[in-house]
Formats: sequence, structure tokens, C-alpha cells
Amino acid sequence: MGSDLAEESLRSAEKPLAPGLYLVATPIGNLEDITLRALRVLRSADRIACEDTRQTAKLLGHFGIKTPTVSYHMHNEGARSGELLEALRVGGKIAVVSDAGMPGIADPGAMIAAEAIAAGVAVYPIPGANAALSALIASGLPSERFAFCGFLPSKEGARRTFLEGLLAGMRGAGAEDAATQIVYETPHRIVGALEDVVSVFGAAQRVVLARELTKLHEEFLRGTAGGLLAELNARPSVRGEMVLLLGPLAEASTAEGAGGVSLVAEVRGLMAGEGLSEKDALKRVAKARGIGKSDAYREWQRAKS
Ligand code: SAM
Repeated sequence: MGSDLAEESLRSAEKPLAPGLYLVATPIGNLEDITLRALRVLRSADRIACEDTRQTAKLLGHFGIKTPTVSYHMHNEGARSGELLEALRVGGKIAVVSDAGMPGIADPGAMIAAEAIAAGVAVYPIPGANAALSALIASGLPSERFAFCGFLPSKEGARRTFLEGLLAGMRGAGAEDAATQIVYETPHRIVGALEDVVSVFGAAQRVVLARELTKLHEEFLRGTAGGLLAELNARPSVRGEMVLLLGPLAEASTAEGAGGVSLVAEVRGLMAGEGLSEKDALKRVAKARGIGKSDAYREWQRAKS
């Protein structure tokens, strides 16, 4: 940190909190990920609007913060924001937190921010942990361009349609606009979601699954959609919070169409991406496609010759 920045931080830490709405990021697992500024804002606000007051009570208790809390969640967002805006209009200082990470990112927060802005109230972001960006920066996938799509639809049909739309958009974007796609998914739906990724994008699609970020059992599974599906199917259970990332389309898949990734591209993808032998890659692709090993081998030989 440059000395100007250090001085600025010291100055702002000494000043009383200005009136306004503070959207405060909280840890997504590891309590050390709260920032000094977030703690100061939570301590100095008049009230903290929480997605779940019991959840936030644990965080506040850990840091000895006694600011009063009020619930602010999906089901009372409309009614509660009116009340909070009243307080903000007369110079109140309100902090908004979600259960974890950034408010407004797959969590309540955006509505009150928009209303406060419309009412001429100052809105301050207090940055910190976020699952999507944490997953992206350590995924190994390109991070220059990315799209965050929130949770995948929970119903199978809608999820499939969503993924088909995603693929069409990625194809339409062209190579120079290729972007990594980030979605949130739940442990009980991840296998179904990956099956759909395999059938829409092909088994060779590059994916990363980031589990339990910042927690004791943090894990990154990097490879192809087919490989990851096989890995999860081989586990007795899949648990924890997770982020799924889809890498930009490989040239082979853009050239060959939705669900029409060639067997050769898939096999090569597994050999290059996961270091599988030719035999193992062929076995995996045959299983994912529901074809016999010998058929897969014949197609592979034909394409190679
Ligand atoms: N506001 C949060 C943020 O900034 O990331 C997201 C809240 S959303 C309701 C919860 C979802 O975020 C989880 O189902 C999971 O997909 C993802 N998530 C949250 N914490 C995570 C973690 N520690 N590791 C992996 N994914 C996480």
C-alpha cells in the first residue's frame, strides 16, 4: 500500500461514519476474511439489516459487535426497505449484510440499493469475500472476461434450456469475446447439472468445480465436464457449497455445434486436460456417450487416419 493510501485509510478510520446505506461483504466461510472497514462500519451503523439475524448474530458475537439487527430477506424486502429508507432519509446509517459474501450477489441487497439511490441517499459498497470471484481467480480458467449467471435453474427442463441459451450466446460472441461462465449450484443438483453440461456442451467442455471456498475442506476439481461427472459419480456423496465454472468454448466445440462436439475433440480434451491415456480417455467418452468401447475406438481410429 502506498503512503497516500495508508494515510487515506487512517483518516477515514478516524472519521465518524457518514450517513447512508452500507452494503457490507461478510466471510463465505473463513472469519478472517472480514475486513477492518467492514468491522468498523458494522460497529458504527445505527442498525444492521440482515438476511438472517441468527446467522449474523454469530458473526457479530465473534467480533464483539453489539449493533442492533433487523431482518431483511427475500420475503420482506419490499416492506422492510420502505422502513429502512425512512431512517436513511433522515440521516440514518444502515448496514446491509447477507448470510455470507456480498449482499446483492445471489442475495438480497440490490433492491434497497436502487431505492436508496432513487431517494438521493448515499450508497457505499464495503467490499470483501465473494464465492464467484474467489472461484474464478483460482480456477485456472481465463478471467479477463467472465459472466456470472447466479444459480442455475432448479428444474431440469429450465436448466437445459438455460444451458442451451448459454452455449448459443458463447458461440455468438466469437473467440475474441470468449468468456468464462460462472454459476452457483447446490450439492443435490450438481450431478444432474453436469449431466446436462455434458449433453449440451459435450464431455470435453472445460469446467472447474470450486467447493467449500475458504473453509477447511476447500477443493478445486479442474478438468472436463465428462471427467468431473465421472469423479462425482465415483464419490459416495457430494457435499458443501459450490461454484461451477465453464471455460470459454474450445475451438473444436464452436466449430462442431451444440452437443455435437466430436468424439475426437473429447478424447483429446481428456488427454490434454486431465492427462488420461488414450485408452482411459476413450473409455470415459464411450461411457458418457452411452456407446460401446469398440465403437468409440473405431471412430477415433477413423478420424485419426
Ligand atoms: N452472496 C454470496 C456471494 O457473494 O458469493 C452468494 C450467496 S448464494 C445465496 C449462496 C451460494 O453461493 C452457494 O449455494 C454456493 O453456490 C455459493 N457459495 C457461497 N459460499 C461458498 C463457498 N464457501 N464455497 C463455494 N461456494 C460458495
